[in-house]
Amino acid sequence: MTSALHTRAVHAGRDDLADLGLHAAPIDFSTTYPARDSAEEARRIDEFAAGGEVTGIYGRIGNPTVERFERALAELEGFDHAVAFASGMAAVSACLLSAVSQGKPHIVGVRPLYGGTDHLLTSGLLGTEVTWAAPEEVAGALRPETGLVLVESPANPTLSETDLAELVDACGAVPVLVDNTFATPVLQRPGRHGARLVVHSATKFLGGHGDVMGGVVACGAEEAARLRGLRFATGGVLHPLAGYLLLRGLSTLPLRVKAASATAAELVERLGTHPAVRSVHYPRLGGPLVSFEVTGDPHAVIGAVRLITPAVSLGSVDTLIQHPASLTHRIVAEDDRTGAGITAGLLRLSVGLEDVEDLWQDLDQALKAA
Ligand SMILES: *Cc1c(COP(=O)(O)O)cnc(C)c1O
Repeated sequence: MTSALHTRAVHAGRDDLADLGLHAAPIDFSTTYPARDSAEEARRIDEFAAGGEVTGIYGRIGNPTVERFERALAELEGFDHAVAFASGMAAVSACLLSAVSQGKPHIVGVRPLYGGTDHLLTSGLLGTEVTWAAPEEVAGALRPETGLVLVESPANPTLSETDLAELVDACGAVPVLVDNTFATPVLQRPGRHGARLVVHSATKFLGGHGDVMGGVVACGAEEAARLRGLRFATGGVLHPLAGYLLLRGLSTLPLRVKAASATAAELVERLGTHPAVRSVHYPRLGGPLVSFEVTGDPHAVIGAVRLITPAVSLGSVDTLIQHPASLTHRIVAEDDRTGAGITAGLLRLSVGLEDVEDLWQDLDQALKAA
């Protein structure tokens, strides 16, 4: 069925509920599924091992509530499959392990990336070797053993943008992974530009209320089979209650992102002329994230906000502010941080659903106090 995104956001993953006589999606907490026919179970396990989508054997193989969220997210991103994980980092890890397991451990990364992803690649913890490249240098950085090109656009925390179609083009047969956490499928569907893997920290906008952790990869059938196999082997499964909450979160995703983006655009205007603000970063794509450099002490701004929540993370109903150099990107070496534009005075604001005048009043008094 083809309908508007905000219509699909409400109905995706729920298409069968009316026929089941249900309104809310059922939550299946089972960790195991009794079966009297073990010969049939053996056949189903073989089917899973061969890359098939199988549920109802054991919770680490698959869960029906989580699958509803996976189907819904895949539909919104325009892919046939999605595989959910316990967190965004578990999702990124599975994609890296997938490359390693195919004998292609070389990864090309475009900075800046989320601090945790940057650290995972820099440390080589999963057996990968990273080459950092600007978008225009990526083609030259590819090797026969390159398994993945990794990019965020808009990127965390500078909100710098990469032309995804151009990047995919430059990568030829090498798959491009786009972390779409900041844009969400409401503002950008990287699959349309040829990205083979689209990752989300579902903890952020997909959940949307700051009360559930999760990660998800939207992709094609072949990648999904490999990722499900990796998830089974390594155990980073999403809890069924998290699956339920994420599915519920998707239904309001378009409305939340659009409302927060409109407020963010207004705050960008006002921040741009504030005497305590040196520069403002806001993507051409729009969105609820704004980052800005202050002339004074960034810690004093964080300490002075009263309505805005001083916390890491993003994508919640409330507005959050944080200092990337101290928190989300602390784990990135100082030179690499500065090189990627994450300066000492940079603050990142994730705009929520409060009234714009209330937010401005709080920001303005915090900037003046600093
Ligand atoms: C938060 C975040 C992650 C990590 O996700 P978790 O759910 O915290 O593991 C990855 N990428 C981006 C862009 C993020 O903002």
